[in-house]
Amino acid sequence: MNNEVYLDANATSPVLPAAIEAAAAAMREGFGNPSSSHACGLRAKALLDATRARARRVLGAATGRVMFTSGATEGIQTAVLSALCAVRERRARGEACGDLLLYGATEHKAVPESLAHWNRLLGTGLELRALPVDGSGRHCLDQLRELAPRAALVCTMAANNETGVVSDLDGIARVLLETGSPALWMVDCVQALGKLPLALDATRIDYAPFSGHKLYAPKGIGLLYVREGAPYTPLMCGGGQEAGQRSGTENMGGIAAFGAVLGALEEGGTFRTHAQLRVYRDRLEASLREAFPGLVFNAPLEHALPTTLNFSVPGLGSKELLDLFDAAGVRVSAGSACSAAKAAPSYVLDAMGVPLARSASAVRLSFGPLADDDFIEAACARIAHCGRALAQARPAARLQQTEAGGASGWLLFDDEGRHCIAIDPPEALAARIAADLSTRECRLLACFATGQGAGGADTLCDILGLRPGWPGGAQQVELAGARLDAIALGRDVLAKNGDSYLLGRPENGALAPGAVRFVFGTDPGNDGFDAALHCHRIGEPAVSRPGADALPDEGIDLDPTTAAAYLAAHPDALLVDVRELPEHAAACAQLRGRGAQHVPLSQLAGQAAHWLREPRPLVFLCRSGNRSARAARLLRRLGHAQAWHVAGGLALAG
Ligand code: PLP
Repeated sequence: MNNEVYLDANATSPVLPAAIEAAAAAMREGFGNPSSSHACGLRAKALLDATRARARRVLGAATGRVMFTSGATEGIQTAVLSALCAVRERRARGEACGDLLLYGATEHKAVPESLAHWNRLLGTGLELRALPVDGSGRHCLDQLRELAPRAALVCTMAANNETGVVSDLDGIARVLLETGSPALWMVDCVQALGKLPLALDATRIDYAPFSGHKLYAPKGIGLLYVREGAPYTPLMCGGGQEAGQRSGTENMGGIAAFGAVLGALEEGGTFRTHAQLRVYRDRLEASLREAFPGLVFNAPLEHALPTTLNFSVPGLGSKELLDLFDAAGVRVSAGSACSAAKAAPSYVLDAMGVPLARSASAVRLSFGPLADDDFIEAACARIAHCGRALAQARPAARLQQTEAGGASGWLLFDDEGRHCIAIDPPEALAARIAADLSTRECRLLACFATGQGAGGADTLCDILGLRPGWPGGAQQVELAGARLDAIALGRDVLAKNGDSYLLGRPENGALAPGAVRFVFGTDPGNDGFDAALHCHRIGEPAVSRPGADALPDEGIDLDPTTAAAYLAAHPDALLVDVRELPEHAAACAQLRGRGAQHVPLSQLAGQAAHWLREPRPLVFLCRSGNRSARAARLLRRLGHAQAWHVAGGLALAG
């Protein structure tokens, strides 16, 4: 998509046009098998040899093995297998070879997983030990000094994929030398290619895997360097390709493409220099700081690749930030791509001692050395747009759901959004709610839990300096002849009726049952609160209407085309964008030219009461179809007969 600003280069990069051309040519004209002895094969072999020679020059590896693999994961397996087989042989000869498999605590998961796998499979019985990193993400060399004499294999990366932190490889080499360590040494060089100078021959490194798709070559092609004299065991045997080091017919399209990238690196002129990339990073850094006041970088930039920025914005989760960026067409990721789908804290940032709230809300922005002025300018403009969208997206929603881990809490605001009552705030969101209320300059009047041990009321009160629990005695309101404790919230009151809490608008100091709009806590039974929605603490649906007949919630899906036709046939139907405010503000939703009204899912309960009073067909829409399906299901369960959603969401409707 032309409209996208792709800032996730550490996950994978687009393919260099020259690489696409080289791959196409290799498949079109040079399709021969390099093992064949006829002319077609010889031409393919020539390409293979020329590409390897080029790789040797770029990696500074005139000696040793340089072989093509399917990517870094395969290179890592091969290195680990080779090292562990050597350990077995050395042991059999009675030689000392160490009892530890030492790996940097921030390594890509491919490393510790491969170590554990092959150690188990080969029965080598070595102890896996993570080498800690310091607060700046660099390996603790003191600890290495202690452990190196016992290490059979040391695995450290050249640069980290999540933070861009560049390892002190010279320092590590020095410690290995000074301690006389017997260890073999693997350095995962995936994120270094094209961004850091490489001269492998001049180092003590035994194994160095590389991956094409991190630097403008396609997926499925990589390289492995093995130092001359370092132990080697093939991972794959068969036809004897790659001089018997790695059998299997070579991926000539990938090799040709990788060759084009290596050629661009060797010849210069295609990729930006380190100094130019630093300038670009400075510009991105400045726009991020301006767009998101309070933003913190999670790794010191002076020790990081100039192409990676890892940051957190207090009060905003990484999911919210990702959605905000995504809505503005900016593709970034939370931590590594492999773990982006899980909202777990980053183990890399955890290892650096970054506080949990920051490590669980980190965002990684990365670009490649092909970036140019226009690209960086477009990226900065989009970042500024996201910042403005976020600043404007300060809702004065009357009723907002706060949801975490299947538990729901509720924030009740007055009309101006100046005062708020928090009911059952989830523990995981307490800090975020506190930050959000402070930025909105909204005063928390009361904060309490309706159930036993329900979440973060104490934490939220702690942060905001409020006494937790129902305040009591502040004010009273009359309900069906009884006088109830109440808290005034603008023109509404929240009244305590035993274990249930009733939100409604009183008249002349009395709250009529029909004027109760929402009930929290225990269901008070049918006492004439027919118009009220019951807001739950746990589970789906988040709200229910005890007196109403729930309608079946199947058949709510409309594909984008059917949804557009439905909207055309029902002029009174409402298209509703249920994405959260920042996402919506970053880009207004449309379906085939029809604009959407915006009601974020977290504010649906308040609006649902209105839609039930004045029913009209509703078509919900969001980014992927998940939240819109929840909205349509909720409305059906509340008794709304014409609630639908656009399956696949904006992702498919675009
Ligand atoms: N090592 C690092 C540092 C990486 O970033 C990645 C890719 O995410 C890998 C290893 C795995 O590379 P590949 O996808 O080529 O198997």
